[in-house]
Amino acid sequence: MLPVLKKIFGTAQSRLLVRYEKLAEKVIAIDLAWQDLSDEQIRNKTAQFKDRIAEGETLDDLLPEAYAAVRNACRRLAGTEVDVSGYSQRWDMVPYKVQIMGAIAMHYGSISEMQTGEGKTLTASMPLYLNALSGKPVHLVTVNDYLAQRDCDWIGTVFRWLGLTVEALTGSTPHHLRSRVYAADIVYGTASEFGFDYLRDNSMARSRKEQCQRGYFFAVVDEIDSILIDEARTPLIISGPSGNSRQMYDILKEQVSVIVKLQRDLCNTIASDARKTLDLYFPLSAEAKLSKQQEEEKSEALKKLWLVTKGMPQHKIVKRLKEDHDLRAALEKWESYFHGDANKEERFSMLSGLFIIVDERAGEYELTDKGINAWIESEKKAASHDDFSMMDLGYEYAKIDENEALSEQEKLQRKVALREADAERKERAHNLRQLFRAHLLMEKDVDYIIQENKIVIIDENTGRPQPGRRFSDGLHQAIEAKEGVEIQGETQTYATITLQNYFRLYTKLGGMTGTAMTEANEFKEIYKLDVLAIPTYKSCKRVDADDEIYMTEREKYNAILRDIQVIHAKGRPILIGTESVEASEKLSRILKQNKLEHTVLNAKNHEHEAEIIAEAGKAGAITVATNMAGRGTDIKLKAGVAELGGLHVIGTTRHQSRRIDRQLRGRCARLGDPGSSKFYVSFEDALMRLFTSPRVTGFLQKFRPPEGEAITAKILNKSIETAQKRVEQRNYTIRKHTLEYDDVMNRQRTEIYSFRNEVLSSDDIFSIAKDILENVCSQMAPSFFITKSDEGGWNPNGYRESLMTQFPVTFDQTVFDSDYLSLEDIEQIAAKKVTEAFEHKIAGETETIRVSQEFLPPGIPKLEPEKVLSEVIRNILIRNVDRYWQEHLLHIDHLRTEVHLRVVGQKDPLLEFKHEAFALFDSFGSKLKAEIAHALFKFEMSSAPRPALPPRQPVEPFKINLSLLRDVEEEAENEEELTR
Ligand code: ADP
Ligand code: MG
Repeated sequence: MLPVLKKIFGTAQSRLLVRYEKLAEKVIAIDLAWQDLSDEQIRNKTAQFKDRIAEGETLDDLLPEAYAAVRNACRRLAGTEVDVSGYSQRWDMVPYKVQIMGAIAMHYGSISEMQTGEGKTLTASMPLYLNALSGKPVHLVTVNDYLAQRDCDWIGTVFRWLGLTVEALTGSTPHHLRSRVYAADIVYGTASEFGFDYLRDNSMARSRKEQCQRGYFFAVVDEIDSILIDEARTPLIISGPSGNSRQMYDILKEQVSVIVKLQRDLCNTIASDARKTLDLYFPLSAEAKLSKQQEEEKSEALKKLWLVTKGMPQHKIVKRLKEDHDLRAALEKWESYFHGDANKEERFSMLSGLFIIVDERAGEYELTDKGINAWIESEKKAASHDDFSMMDLGYEYAKIDENEALSEQEKLQRKVALREADAERKERAHNLRQLFRAHLLMEKDVDYIIQENKIVIIDENTGRPQPGRRFSDGLHQAIEAKEGVEIQGETQTYATITLQNYFRLYTKLGGMTGTAMTEANEFKEIYKLDVLAIPTYKSCKRVDADDEIYMTEREKYNAILRDIQVIHAKGRPILIGTESVEASEKLSRILKQNKLEHTVLNAKNHEHEAEIIAEAGKAGAITVATNMAGRGTDIKLKAGVAELGGLHVIGTTRHQSRRIDRQLRGRCARLGDPGSSKFYVSFEDALMRLFTSPRVTGFLQKFRPPEGEAITAKILNKSIETAQKRVEQRNYTIRKHTLEYDDVMNRQRTEIYSFRNEVLSSDDIFSIAKDILENVCSQMAPSFFITKSDEGGWNPNGYRESLMTQFPVTFDQTVFDSDYLSLEDIEQIAAKKVTEAFEHKIAGETETIRVSQEFLPPGIPKLEPEKVLSEVIRNILIRNVDRYWQEHLLHIDHLRTEVHLRVVGQKDPLLEFKHEAFALFDSFGSKLKAEIAHALFKFEMSSAPRPALPPRQPVEPFKINLSLLRDVEEEAENEEELTR
């Protein structure tokens, strides 16, 4: 739209803001009008609202009054002491108009973008209260357990005052209390607690009583971008030990380190050779003219250096040499030279000198022929494995089939052996790939830390350790092998879901955060959420300086140190954000050398988070933190600090995503406080190295400032932002990719979970069992009845026999023989007989139960046979569903790894995955039903052996005795111990 038109009509956003502002004013008017009512009258509103809903009024109708009731309650609470996480706190909050506006947007399913310190916690109380009036489940999702408990204690005061119940759900909420928590009108908890409960309810609970959630109506997600965007890359997984492990990390790890070392030594030699030559030519004086031979020598050296960047992108020598801007430009020239099609041959021949080619930007690597040969060489001593070629199973099968010397039985055996060998070979190749990945692309103290002899993942965006989570696909084991800590056993997935798909369960979502605008597109596309920027309460007084950009990291750190010294001398507190544990430790060393007292907050000492943050606003405090200090932490200025200028925030690099930078900036200048922020960037930062356009180097060569001086040019700020956008786009693609795979699973999961729930809650389990039996009869039939017109195409006797093998039934010889019978008729006859047999079986077992109780001593209550059998059947169904569903998930896991290997064959892995996942689900379904059908006839009731009743009967295997229900409970307890 043209700017002029925009002014006249306003944007969609500004029109919405005007509407919400009017509505907010109405809320305030109602609240003020209610000031003279008694506490009792305000409290009674809750019940009145509920009645009005019952009479047909909608939540939208009630919004102005419900919000006014919350505001009014806040006003009445003012001055009272509230117990928050063990501390007494004075209630002093009445929602501002802008907060009411944010609250309105959330009720209408939007994300309210409200800056840090604007009071989002209080804002959420209004939509939570309103929606909870419906009686349906309302959840508030926060980023960690501490905030869940704190906000529940704090804001819960209002809900309790108004007569609603509120509970916090944290990692330490014991399982048996969770249904009570979910029964509350409003529940505060983290995304993973909610998500894992969903998975447990649907894949582990053995009865309705063991399920704790009661549905998904409305959720408000705090720091929504952190949860739905940053955390959404790794799905939630409940896993347990896998029965048969094939993993080979231990066997392979030594050899992999050997190859990696070969590569390192090679790169060292090449790089130091090149440096010796280049030392002669750089820096060059302007008038020096090189002879042809010298030119050539120089070129050769540069090419070698280029080669090192392909083999070890972070090589120290190259890094140091690159500090020279002429050399950097020269190197860059060779990069584009080798990029050109005309020089492809030369490129390949150069690269073939390496063992491994590493593509840091794409996060990929590749073994060259030389590397593969070195591997084979090192393998010779061991058993002869062929790790780098794949077997063509189809071809091998055909060869077996053609071999006439073999009997059918032998053919089958050979095929099975071949398939086993192929599976082992694939697993080995997979382990090998992951080991190399661990060595080449995963860095200690950046991607993970080692704690108590365990590998702990560091979340890239929040800087927080994620104990219990593991890199998927064997990468975690590979890192364990690399670092020499104990390799954990292979695990098997029991249940899994992405956060995206979990949150799609809710009828309505709302969200709040300080940073959503940059990702507005994704929110719209995936969650159908709009983002609305809410104006601040007071205008923000923060001063954001332009970025300072340096050629080298060394110059950058010097500049940061100067900045710290100057600001510190004034007594202002400083918060310094770093991108990794490693970087925070490096900066800490620099500060120590310069005798600057400071505190470090990173994944290694996060237990002290609350204390550190509480002190960070004191005069003279210096706090070095990873992105951990980014979310939900409210740094309050201590007395006198505002007069000095407030908190100063320093960013030591631009993060890959603009949101994370904005979060860091937002730590200062909350609610109209003074404050300032500044980012420092160097051309050695990962973001700049990997994602800026080569033109930037050209520009720098012309305008290289003197050593130690910053470059301040608008064009550079622009290109940093472009680089960030590029990475954000790439990460979005990755998330979408994860989601596309999970979407395939989502359909299957929904189907199996809803069947499972039907089994758990059905009052008539017998009819479900009969349905399955009928189904199995039908599913067995088609292979025997293909066509009537062909001799072998219609095989009633085959069907009859196969039914008699599967079920304890007999059929007359000629039962299916009549020519007049259609396939449906035949299936019906079979089904009728089988279900009758089942009814007979049930009648028999009922009798057993009755008889076994005849001589019970007086005082012991008798069990109702019908009820007992119902539970037994339910149990048979659930056990089989879980068992075969888990097996299915394992197949899906394997499929997922395998489809990626097929990219070689020019096939679209996602499409392949969809097709095969569907086929697998189909055969899972048939197998499950057949197994259940079988089990329904196999169980037998027997009286429980009671010590009081001699002689003691031995408990036979395969018999379920009457104490079965207690067994089930015990088992459920064992499963509690499953690792996440
Ligand atoms: P955010 O989550 O938006 O960063 P918080 O919810 O943590 O902000 O609130 C920041 C601070 O603002 C809290 O200390 C809170 O007491 C204060 N605050 C929020 N709303 C109000 C209000 N309406 N009146 C007074 N203080 C408020
Ligand atoms: Mg907050």
